[in-house]
Amino acid sequence: MYAILLYTTLVWGPIGNALYAPDSVLPLTPAAYQAIRHTLRAKDQPFVVLDAHGRVDRPAINRQTSRSPTFQALKTLVNDTLVVEVTISNDYLYRNTHDSIRHGSLVAVYTNELTDATQYMLQYTAAQLKNMGFRDEIRASGPSGITLLPGGERDVKGDGKGSVNGHIVVVLSSDLIERDAARKLAHEAYGHALFFILRKNPNHAEDKARGGNQELEDQIRSSIEETERNYDRAKSSCSKTTKRNH
Ligand SMILES: [Zn+2]
Repeated sequence: MYAILLYTTLVWGPIGNALYAPDSVLPLTPAAYQAIRHTLRAKDQPFVVLDAHGRVDRPAINRQTSRSPTFQALKTLVNDTLVVEVTISNDYLYRNTHDSIRHGSLVAVYTNELTDATQYMLQYTAAQLKNMGFRDEIRASGPSGITLLPGGERDVKGDGKGSVNGHIVVVLSSDLIERDAARKLAHEAYGHALFFILRKNPNHAEDKARGGNQELEDQIRSSIEETERNYDRAKSSCSKTTKRNH
């Protein structure tokens, strides 16, 4: 039985005649699945459905060709041999540099930068603080997402945290609102996870002495921007439909 299952999941790969067994992206909760869909254009979303094992269905996504970079990134993740888990939680397990398993935590705190500033910079008016650059909008801060890579604990340029199960694991904070969960997914999955799969440097270069990783930063920024456009367009066309119906 196993042999049959294994046989059916093995296909001839696109590179020469190398045999490869693609796996997929595995959202662990319905909200994680929604975060994935929310990064995409409305017309591409129907091609992202789950198979009997709860993974993004590979034949279905492969039936669609789209110029959307977020869709192409997701398709690349789905067609790789590694499993990419997506989960929404404030707690996660990781492997540290001493090969021990540890608990990590995420959080997102929503605050208005300008309101906060008025409370501790009492010598200025709100208008003055706004002119000084404090933004009058509610934004999330805190470590609200992480990507754990297989062997990440041994990557000296990384954060010393690796995946515990050999999968790529994307964790999004459960404090994030829907739109920010999609934005964070774009950052983690279409930035860090994608670069790892493409054998590119998946790390932010926090230490400037090592030089920046501009290609990764550009990929993350454009993935987030596309996600914002896709999410906002899908929501506004949704509310138009609702209005017409009532
Ligand atoms: Zn990052």
